Amino acid sequence: MRQVGAIGTERFRRTLAWHIARRPGGLVALAIQYGHMRTAVSAGYAARSRDGIHDLLDIETARATADTIAALHEDLSEGAGISGPAARRAIHAAAQAQFTGSIRSARQARAILRNSSLAVHDNPHAYLMCVYNRDKALCHRLGTGDAPTLDRCVPSCANIARTDRHTAQLTAQAENLEEQAASQMVPHPLADRLL
Ligand code: SF4
Repeated sequence: MRQVGAIGTERFRRTLAWHIARRPGGLVALAIQYGHMRTAVSAGYAARSRDGIHDLLDIETARATADTIAALHEDLSEGAGISGPAARRAIHAAAQAQFTGSIRSARQARAILRNSSLAVHDNPHAYLMCVYNRDKALCHRLGTGDAPTLDRCVPSCANIARTDRHTAQLTAQAENLEEQAASQMVPHPLADRLL
C-alpha cells in the first residue's frame, strides 16, 4: 500500500533498512548480517543517528529470511516439489515457518538470525535457495568470511535447494539462451558463450 505524508527521520531509516536488507537479492543483507558491510554501510550513518540503524537492519534482515521460509512453506503446502542436496534441510526449515512469527523487536530478529536451522536465503539470480551451512559452503573457498556469497554461488555446492518454481525459471532461462544462440543475428563467438 502506498504511504502518504511527510518523510521524517524515523520513516526514512525504516525505508533505508528495508532496501539494504532486501536488495539486490539479499546480498547486502547477508553481508550486514555477518558484519562485513555493517560498518561500511551503516556505521557513519548510525553514529549520527540517535539510536543507530543496526536494530532496524537486524529486523529487516530477519523479516527477509522469514519471508523466504514462509514462501517455501506455502509452495510445499501447495504440493510443489523440491530438489537439490539441501532439499531435506530446506523442508525442515519450512516446517518451522510458524515460529518466525511477526518480527517486531531487534531481540526477536537476532534470535532468528542466530538460529542456523532457519538460515535459508533466496538467491533469485541463481534460481535457487541457499540453505546455509558453513562447513559445506563452497563459496568460502573464494575468500569470503563466515557468510554465503550469493553472487559467487558455486553450482555444485551442497547447500543448494530448488523448488519447482526455481527449476521452471532455470529451464526458461536456458531455453532463452539457446534461442539467442541460434539467432542469425548473434555472432558465432557470442553464440558459443551462450550455449
Ligand atoms: S556456494 Fe553454497 S553456501 Fe555459497 S551461496 Fe551458493 S549455495 Fe550458498
